[in-house]
Amino acid sequence: MIAHTPTLFAAVALVATILAFCLLLVGQRNRRDNLWLTGCGLLAHASAYVCYTLYGHAPLWLSYGVGNSLLSLALAFYAASLFWVREQAVPWRLIFSIPLLLLVGLLLLLDTLEPRMLLATLVLMLQCSMILYWVRRRRAWAGSAHLLLVIGSLISLVGLGMRAVAVIGGTAVDMRYDTSNLKQSVSVAIGTATVMMYAIGLVLMAKERSETRLQHLALRDVLTGTFNRGAILERFSAEFDRARGEQRSLAVAMIDIDHFKRINDRYGHLAGDEVLCHCVRQLLQRIRQTDSLGRYGGEEFLLLLPDTDREGALQALHGLREAIACSPAHFAGDEIALRFSVGLWCGVPSPQHNPTSLLAQADAALYQAKAAGRNTVQMAALC
Ligand code: GH3
Ligand code: MG
Ligand code: MG
Repeated sequence: MIAHTPTLFAAVALVATILAFCLLLVGQRNRRDNLWLTGCGLLAHASAYVCYTLYGHAPLWLSYGVGNSLLSLALAFYAASLFWVREQAVPWRLIFSIPLLLLVGLLLLLDTLEPRMLLATLVLMLQCSMILYWVRRRRAWAGSAHLLLVIGSLISLVGLGMRAVAVIGGTAVDMRYDTSNLKQSVSVAIGTATVMMYAIGLVLMAKERSETRLQHLALRDVLTGTFNRGAILERFSAEFDRARGEQRSLAVAMIDIDHFKRINDRYGHLAGDEVLCHCVRQLLQRIRQTDSLGRYGGEEFLLLLPDTDREGALQALHGLREAIACSPAHFAGDEIALRFSVGLWCGVPSPQHNPTSLLAQADAALYQAKAAGRNTVQMAALC
């Protein structure tokens, strides 16, 4: 089916304008999102297609030179939007110098057909390849919205490749914007798919980023960044079920910093906060990937060691205790020594156990460790 090319251009411009309007309306209120940058890209995209519809009726510098530079500007905005949504530094100069240089180049080559078409096509291909490279590099979170950008870039590269082949093959006239033929219809269809893929992909990336951030806020302790009480208890429940179901040994350690109140009283609350963060950093550096650490309360932490027997758990906890005793925290020029006591439950959970009963036993063992003089690990009796 061969459609009237200028009409197709106008349709793409209309769709891109509507999308741009929606994103700019919503995005202007929240500049932390990338919606406004994507909206600017769509606006440039729409304007480019408006210029194309004028081909043959308006001066060439406008319909061709400005038109293709606007398309290049749209790709620059999409690239900036990609960096922005990932909270990475946007290489503004690099990204936005390309459309400017393209405009200069096209104005210089305006009187030619093949060279200007080739220049525009190759520059746009370069930009799509850069987006493709940036999308695949340094992914900031798990999610699949970036795949739309990958697909959009690949589709676009195919369309632009077709254009380049036509120019090199001597059929550049077929690709003039006022010509209606199958190649042009396919090319515009590809252009439309690219707009949709880029715009929807970038919007969905913003959604994924918000979800990741909310998830982080919901699960993490604000001060130390480790799991909060709710999250570690949820993990505990899952680990407990797994250990009981598969009859594997599980170690549950209740860790409490010794005389923490004295640290607060002597060095101040901010120093106390730093001690808590230091303790978490030290513990996280030393535990296995399968272990989980969470802040249970003020200066109490819950550590879960799956697939760990009593001997291994005692060894691990004593190792952590000694390592932390040897690495003091630093705050405002002070060196702050810290010690902790541990109440430990370890074994294969049986039907009469439940997470609460194990926690109670670990807590009772912690009290014994404190009573025994602190800076020690006390194993709860198995019952
Ligand atoms: P013990 O050796 O028996 O555990 O004594 P302790 O001083 O560590 O325990 P205690 O329960 O008497 O004091 C805990 C202190 O921890 C009291 C509370 O003000 C402080 N605390 C709780 N949460 C935070 C926090 O987020 N930051 C700071 N700086 N202090 C906190
Ligand atoms: Mg304490
Ligand atoms: Mg305590």
